[in-house]
Amino acid sequence: MSSVKPLPFDEATVRAIAEKYPTPFYLYDEKGIRETCRTLNKAFAWSEGFKNYFAVKATPNPHILEIVKSEGLGGDCSSKAELILSETVGLTGEDIMFTSNNTPVEEYRAAKDLGAVLNLDDISHIEYVDEHLGLPDLVSFRFNPGPARTGNVIIGNPSEAKYGFTEEQLFEGYRMLQQRGVKRFALHTMVASNELDGSFFVETARMLFDLAIRIHKELGIRIEFVNLGGGIGIPYRPEEGPVDLMALGRNIEKLYQEMIVPADLHPLRVVLENGRMVTGPHGYLVTECIHHKHIYRDYVGVDASMANLMRPGMYGAYHHISVLGKENAPHDRVVDVVGSLCENNDKFAIERSLPEIERGDLLVIHDSGAHGHAMGFQYNGKLRSAELLLKENGEVELIRRAETYEDYFATVDFAPFAVPQ
Ligand SMILES: *Cc1c(COP(=O)(O)O)cnc(C)c1O
Repeated sequence: MSSVKPLPFDEATVRAIAEKYPTPFYLYDEKGIRETCRTLNKAFAWSEGFKNYFAVKATPNPHILEIVKSEGLGGDCSSKAELILSETVGLTGEDIMFTSNNTPVEEYRAAKDLGAVLNLDDISHIEYVDEHLGLPDLVSFRFNPGPARTGNVIIGNPSEAKYGFTEEQLFEGYRMLQQRGVKRFALHTMVASNELDGSFFVETARMLFDLAIRIHKELGIRIEFVNLGGGIGIPYRPEEGPVDLMALGRNIEKLYQEMIVPADLHPLRVVLENGRMVTGPHGYLVTECIHHKHIYRDYVGVDASMANLMRPGMYGAYHHISVLGKENAPHDRVVDVVGSLCENNDKFAIERSLPEIERGDLLVIHDSGAHGHAMGFQYNGKLRSAELLLKENGEVELIRRAETYEDYFATVDFAPFAVPQ
């Protein structure tokens, strides 16, 4: 199988970058991120007030947030740190959707102080927020359809998911909000993750439109916006194709015309909160081959590890690998590409056909821009890598330095011990 995935840079460019910033590092492609934001906005331009709230957890770096903000995206936050990052780039107020779960009161407070849309995860949180902070004017609920929908591998089945309200609780919850003087109402769900079948999201729109209509009929409440969640997938494998965003936008518009307009609920804003599809395809983990090993299988050892990118180890996720300068060489070796953790699942690829790889070759692990660096950890004392931004003008900017041992040990009390210098 010839399996070439295009790259927005060549070997010479990356070698020059690696001279200044040692591998491993993440490299994000600003141009690609901007183009994806524009396509998404275009696909939903029919919906007045459309916004994709970028899921900050996917790529929590203010330089990336600034780019997506400048393309008109909002921020979807689930924690205080993500709120702080958003505020840093001027994302505040209703440009933030606070979709959290099992939320501590301090995090609700931080979100409310910023004026973010509070998207409550449970009916008991109505009273919790009201008691501690008072309810804001606008409140959103997260719906969990339970057995009515099937999810997919990453997110699991809704009926087994800890998130959201049941349908019955949703109606009761809006009634409670009315009684407590809330004036504005929104409805949210998130039932897919990395889903490449666009029709899945059309079904989600149908489900939320139908609920908005029934909520209006039964309670006299007009839902101000429905949030279809994130979860639009990306083609990790070269033989996969992306979701056709323009077709997705048109199909949801058609449903809107069929359901919302006749119910006299126009205008109802439609919003999304995708992270992965915005930055995922435009981030690359660059790593160098440092060893070979030939035992019962053949191994290529690289200087990155699962601590930099845990998706393959955690979910068995496929990430395409290009060997720079050998993209078109015969892929006639079958190898496991491994990191250095004392964990046998520290593998970026298992029995993958790749060209012959030598020490010093640079490997690019594709589609790492979302849920990549962000999921990094420090097990085994492995330090998290730098993040670099390849700007539209071709310059490279360091947007997060690599961690040092000082960072790693910063929280340890070394006082009683003689610290080696
Ligand atoms: C993670 C998450 C998202 C973003 O998911 P992607 O797969 O990155 O699009 C959006 N909303 C919620 C509630 C999430 O937990």
